[in-house]
Amino acid sequence: MVERQRVVVVGGGAAGSAAAAALGQFLAQLEVVVVGAEERLPYNRTTVNKGLLTGAAIDQDVVLPGLRDLGVTWKLGRRARSADAATRIVELANGPRMTADAVVLATGADPCPLPAAIEPAAASRVLGMRTASDSLRLREALRHGSGHILIAGAGLLGAETAGSLRALGVEVTLVDLADRPLSAHLGAAVASWAHAKHLRAGVDLRTRTAVVAVERVGGGVNVTLDDGSRVRADAVVASLGVRPAVGWLRDSGISLSDGVSVDSGMRVLDHRGFYAAGDLAAVPGPGGTPLRTEHWGAALAQGRTAAASVLADLGLAEAADDAVSVGPPGYSTYVHGTKLTMVGSAHDAIDEAVVHGAVGEGRFTVALLDREGRISAAVGVGGARIANRLRGLIARRGEIGEVDHVLGEAA
Ligand SMILES: Cc1cc2nc3c(=O)[nH]c(=O)nc-3n(C[C@H](O)[C@H](O)[C@H](O)COP(=O)(O)OP(=O)(O)OC[C@H]3O[C@@H](n4cnc5c(N)ncnc54)[C@H](O)[C@@H]3O)c2cc1C
Repeated sequence: MVERQRVVVVGGGAAGSAAAAALGQFLAQLEVVVVGAEERLPYNRTTVNKGLLTGAAIDQDVVLPGLRDLGVTWKLGRRARSADAATRIVELANGPRMTADAVVLATGADPCPLPAAIEPAAASRVLGMRTASDSLRLREALRHGSGHILIAGAGLLGAETAGSLRALGVEVTLVDLADRPLSAHLGAAVASWAHAKHLRAGVDLRTRTAVVAVERVGGGVNVTLDDGSRVRADAVVASLGVRPAVGWLRDSGISLSDGVSVDSGMRVLDHRGFYAAGDLAAVPGPGGTPLRTEHWGAALAQGRTAAASVLADLGLAEAADDAVSVGPPGYSTYVHGTKLTMVGSAHDAIDEAVVHGAVGEGRFTVALLDREGRISAAVGVGGARIANRLRGLIARRGEIGEVDHVLGEAA
């Protein structure tokens, strides 16, 4: 009998599960092992601060379909401790060590910690918002509390979480250092719209403010802000962005800057047999600059691309087209019930123009422009139609003057 080649996928999230699902079609030739730190099968993480938090969805609803009977080996509740790029040995905390023919790195990202003086007794009430368990912990804090949550960070994740909590009738204090949170990622017009939207939804929004201390008081916490004010809350949610979960790769020999740099087939640069996908993967962006995309759809697509590269490199399939190079990234979400869609990336945007609708009406589309006046992204508020129509223009970095023509053509 021919021995099967072994692929180890580290991380059981969007990217890891998409890779496993594709690799799982080749079990006659491959042994596929998925190592996942969470106890559960991969689930839709985007529901953590939405459906799972509001109770509109329960655990079983959000498990990704088709994984239970895939036939791969799930090592859940297990954390990889190290990997060696030279030998392709992956070691789990408390063993075992596994030698692999290919390793897919898909450990995602971890929430940035809250930079404040947190009393040890209060630490259990300072929550990240990354996993289903985080969501359940917040629900638990609310069940026994007074119904007041402080969210540190009014970026997309914080804004979404504020919307979910307000929908439950929870009092929300939303704190951010920036004057107009979201403006760096979505532009000033969308940031102003979101600001007004928070206020209308009854959020106590404190901008240009930081959390400096959290102390335990009774069943909740006292949060001290840098203007000297204090807020009593059941818990603090830290939504200050994420950083790639690559600590376990520290001694691997793989170079780690902002995540793991890959080519457009998700192959780790300079390390044959290693692939990376999802939030930790830095893919070649415009002009070749490595870019991480922290979006659900991108993580799934990258996981599939990594699997296609593994299959091609192990001689099990034809080399596939590199899916990650197809089209600009994008995502949709809801802020206090209004749909918000981003197409493209704002990383080099320095200017913007409202190209459709009006900010005051809450239905508009903004084009974000790079220093040459070319469109790098579009943000649609109250609908995705116009932003999606600009997809082709964004992909080829068209000029702002072309927008009317493109929109007129598609009308
Ligand atoms: C609350 C929330 C809401 C979001 N909403 C949206 C949205 O509306 N739209 C959108 O496009 N994107 C959204 N995102 C982003 C999206 O969910 C992520 O981009 C996507 O999940 C990234 O997939 P991933 O596989 O790289 O990482 P993850 O899905 O985080 O999976 C990584 C997995 O690896 C595990 N792991 C970490 N370290 C180890 C280790 N050493 N050993 C073994 N396992 C390990 C982790 O526990 C985790 O289960 C949201 C993210 C969050 C947190």
